[in-house]
Amino acid sequence: MGKRKKLAIYPGTFDPITFGHLDILARASAIFDEVIVAISRQGAKSTLFSLDERVDLARKVISQKTFDCPVRLEVFSGLLVRFAKERGAATLVRGLRAISDFEYEFQMALMNRHQKGEVETVFLMPDERYVYLSSSMVREVARLNGNLSAFLPRPVIAALKKKYRHPKRLVS
Ligand code: ADP
Repeated sequence: MGKRKKLAIYPGTFDPITFGHLDILARASAIFDEVIVAISRQGAKSTLFSLDERVDLARKVISQKTFDCPVRLEVFSGLLVRFAKERGAATLVRGLRAISDFEYEFQMALMNRHQKGEVETVFLMPDERYVYLSSSMVREVARLNGNLSAFLPRPVIAALKKKYRHPKRLVS
């Protein structure tokens, strides 16, 4: 009998997807046999991009890259650990940036463990270039028409430009 496939879930809001997300996804793909990028339908925050837009952007940029294992994209709502269990995934992947992420992530991982003890959370660190990168920072800089070409794939830059209807290109 073959070894059981190691399936991981990489959950998030992806509002929008950045090079930081893609960096974590690439690292996860080198560890697991399959990764499901799970885009949360609602969540605690109100989003700039609709669910469909977040999914379309993520799908586009993920399909433009190669990963070490198959990467699937799904939308989830409700309890994340329940979704993981339904998919047969024993691991959640989260990115850990600066210390500021730690408290929230620690709280969430322990709460998830409390819900379903068999689902473990692992944290991966991004490349230094992306340690201070967040979707919220990107949205703010885009709103002010700043340059984001080092942090975002082109389709995401185009989508942000459209959202904020800047006359000039964001890529300089
Ligand atoms: P959430 O609302 O669940 O935090 P996000 O889309 O903001 O959703 O983030 C999803 C995951 O990706 C989180 O674990 C977050 O820490 C991680 N992440 C986001 N940006 C980066 C980055 N620049 N480097 C490393 N991890 C990141």
